[in-house]
Amino acid sequence: MDKLIKTISESGSFRAYVLDSTETVRTAQEKHNTLSSSTVALGRTLIANQILAANQKGESKITVKVIGNSSFGHIISVADTKGHVKGYIQNPGVDIKKTATGEVLVGPFMGQGQFVSIIDYGTGNPYTSSTPLISGEIGEDFAYYLTESEQTPSAVGLNVLLDEEDKVKVAGGFMLQVLPGASEEEIARYEKRIQEMPAISTLLESDDHIEALLNAIYGDEPFKRLSEEELSFECDCSRERFENALLTLGKDELQAMKDEDHGAEIVCQFCQTKYEFSEADLEELIND
Ligand SMILES: [Zn+2]
Repeated sequence: MDKLIKTISESGSFRAYVLDSTETVRTAQEKHNTLSSSTVALGRTLIANQILAANQKGESKITVKVIGNSSFGHIISVADTKGHVKGYIQNPGVDIKKTATGEVLVGPFMGQGQFVSIIDYGTGNPYTSSTPLISGEIGEDFAYYLTESEQTPSAVGLNVLLDEEDKVKVAGGFMLQVLPGASEEEIARYEKRIQEMPAISTLLESDDHIEALLNAIYGDEPFKRLSEEELSFECDCSRERFENALLTLGKDELQAMKDEDHGAEIVCQFCQTKYEFSEADLEELIND
């Protein structure tokens, strides 16, 4: 089971989240049949959303959209505050690697665009904010978003590593934030450690990457573990939800679907589950 661990420095001036998102991204890859670059881009977006969702209280819904104008198209993800996330990428077929190293490329194929978050506290008045993509690598774009939009200086590292067959090997990351009251000396110490930190890919390759990340973030500084939360890829779609969507089309449209198409098939874009509606099902909806 994937998990997110919340920690705080003993001084109370820094907080860090560390995540294992391997199963989440593996499930996303299986559901959407994504090729290498699309897997990494979608996976990084899901991890960013898991971090953002962990920052919310109550029963909110958190949407992250990474909207670039190049190969990937839009990447859309929705999370709740119970550790569930779902998402999809418009183009699952991007598969571009450096010839020499086999490194999977993401940033150059994102293009120009925006990192958008929509936080819905259930009040019917969702809070939307966005910042421009600065590199298209998603982790950097997310850190920029946190620092600019939420006004909290943040360091973020997140990635998805693939095996020889381009299947997900490990996925995860961290977020470190400076809280009010941090001293100059403390900030300097953390900054130095973050700068000297091994690459996120190297840390993810460790036997226990959660511990490796915590060690890289805190070094010898004492810190407390506040909580451990389970994470998973879950879609909340249902037949009933799509029935309601069909009902909004109106009688004429449903009648046409019945007479001309002899039924309807709806595929959930977040999880690829297929819902079939026969002529009899449509008739029932028409009479509703
Ligand atoms: Zn679904």
